[in-house]
Amino acid sequence: MPAKTLTAKVAKRRDLTDDLFLLWLEPQSGGKFSFKPGQYCTIGMEGILRPYSIVSAPHEECIELFVELVPHDLGGNLTPHLHTLKVGDSVDLMPRAKGVFTFDANFKNHVLVSTVTGVVPYVSMVRDYMHRKESGHKFFVLQGASYYDEFGYCDEFSEIVINRSNEIELVYVPTVSRPHEHRNSMWHGERGRVNEIIEDWLLEMEECGELSREDTLVYACGHPGMIEDVKARLMPKGWDVKEERFWKK
Ligand SMILES: Cc1cc2nc3c(=O)[nH]c(=O)nc-3n(C[C@H](O)[C@H](O)[C@H](O)COP(=O)(O)OP(=O)(O)OC[C@H]3O[C@@H](n4cnc5c(N)ncnc54)[C@H](O)[C@@H]3O)c2cc1C
Repeated sequence: MPAKTLTAKVAKRRDLTDDLFLLWLEPQSGGKFSFKPGQYCTIGMEGILRPYSIVSAPHEECIELFVELVPHDLGGNLTPHLHTLKVGDSVDLMPRAKGVFTFDANFKNHVLVSTVTGVVPYVSMVRDYMHRKESGHKFFVLQGASYYDEFGYCDEFSEIVINRSNEIELVYVPTVSRPHEHRNSMWHGERGRVNEIIEDWLLEMEECGELSREDTLVYACGHPGMIEDVKARLMPKGWDVKEERFWKK
């Protein structure tokens, strides 16, 4: 028997750009929605269901999502509906979270590589780690995007780096792939596609003793092309890579 679909209400919404938005969903009746950091929930409207990795950590009240609109004319089915959601509207929510793209505490170092919304599972892992006051692991978040205004959790990671360095060891490296476009004229940080900078960056980290390939797990999440390239560059050189593809090429 298929499990009964739940309803979740939109408790909050924030638009980051014209096509990137954050939703906070409140599951109605049936108690708390349980999941592990890094897992995804399945939501739907108009009978169309899609998986979305969860931004929030399990202790939080709402399920936070970070969604990219795929317009109808580019083949998008559910996201054009999600993009119309307002506070108080409802979506369908499958009762169980799924996925194995979770934190592996056996490794000391966690290199968390993403493109745009692919950062989602890492936010959950870091929030949960801090909430549980864990220690002994290091996090290196590398996030790629075309434009700097697409770094949804830049402020949160930067704040952790600046103010909470004693609570969690975290390095945050956002990088833009189109540095010369006018929209990026305010950007003075790292440049280049995340998959193209990762290899040299890891070697540099290794050379200065920050990590070694024996005690490091590289996670790659988001754009399938980025994931394939990261795997092709790193795995033959002995790096362990774990992946979560958000769509097929
Ligand atoms: C485990 C998992 C977790 C996911 N988590 C997230 C998440 O946190 N945030 C999020 O926005 N999406 C996430 N996705 C993708 C999501 O499930 C949908 O596929 C996406 O939102 C598009 O939905 P759609 O119904 O509008 O288009 P679909 O009918 O799903 O796809 C239409 C076309 O667009 C392509 N496509 C799908 N997503 C993108 C994209 N972002 N950019 C370019 N092309 C795309 C598809 O390959 C297909 O060709 C996740 C997918 C998986 C498998």
